[in-house]
Amino acid sequence: MKQIIINEKCNGCGMCVVKCPKYFEENDDGNTQVIKGVLSDETDKALNEVIAQCPVNAISFGGSVDKSKLMQQELDKLKELSKGLTVKREDIAFTDNYCVVTTFPYIGSSGYNYSSSSAAERAGMSEFRNRAWPCIDDKILDCITTYRVNIIKPYYSTDERSVYTKFNKKVVDVLTALANIVGKSNLPSDFCNVDVYPERDMVWKMLEKGEIIGENFIGIVRREFSYSPSNYESSIDWDDMEDYRGKDKYCYRAQDAVEELRRDVQNAVRWAKSDIEDSSLGYIRGLVDSYNKNLKACLEKKMQAITKKLI
Ligand code: SF4
Repeated sequence: MKQIIINEKCNGCGMCVVKCPKYFEENDDGNTQVIKGVLSDETDKALNEVIAQCPVNAISFGGSVDKSKLMQQELDKLKELSKGLTVKREDIAFTDNYCVVTTFPYIGSSGYNYSSSSAAERAGMSEFRNRAWPCIDDKILDCITTYRVNIIKPYYSTDERSVYTKFNKKVVDVLTALANIVGKSNLPSDFCNVDVYPERDMVWKMLEKGEIIGENFIGIVRREFSYSPSNYESSIDWDDMEDYRGKDKYCYRAQDAVEELRRDVQNAVRWAKSDIEDSSLGYIRGLVDSYNKNLKACLEKKMQAITKKLI
């Protein structure tokens, strides 16, 4: 048996896929490829016709292949994959991208409405307490939510971004190669299907609803933030001007204090990174273990099917 090779001259016209679907297929990127594991001998009439008709002479026979050796290679790959997914701390890293705290409400400067500098400062402090200070938890939650959606969601979803979907595809590739070597008609029709996911347990559902890696993590960041509104008092400034009656009037300038608060919250998020990763890893490991258990059970059935064929 020989390998079939398509070289880089292929222009993707698709003729070989239409005429010889037993050997050729279109992959997910729209390129033509030889079906994994498919071999042929040089006497196959339909294949020889397609080789002769390829407009750019891109198809040829490769070297002879020992079918049992090829089979063993694929079985080894399957054995390796059956060990399952691993999740490491760096896979769920809470990187600096998630430590960016966005601008707090703009407080800025007031009008010249105050009769003394101390009255202006008191008013600025009051605005700071009422409008900026209450936003701290929301700002922390924004960082945590963005992290959950971008980094953690692939561990509790079944779409294209799901780590399980991606791993299933790797397994499907090996099973397809095996099925092509053994002959698909000799195996159960669902032999190449792998639709394995973790149990949708409590953790999965709470992650979907944002009930964990959400508000429950605000406390982790709050532990790193030890300030009170009075720490920002010295950053609230004032200015004065003389009005038309010759009297001094005063305004407050509070934006520096707001920006200082934003920076302090951002630092607290950064300092909490490692604790956020630790706690997230705990949740995710449970899901990955559940996936690996289900994958193992699924692959045991596939192995039984293929072993029956080999005996
Ligand atoms: S017939 Fe030749 S050029 Fe066309 S898709 Fe097949 S290999 Fe590529």
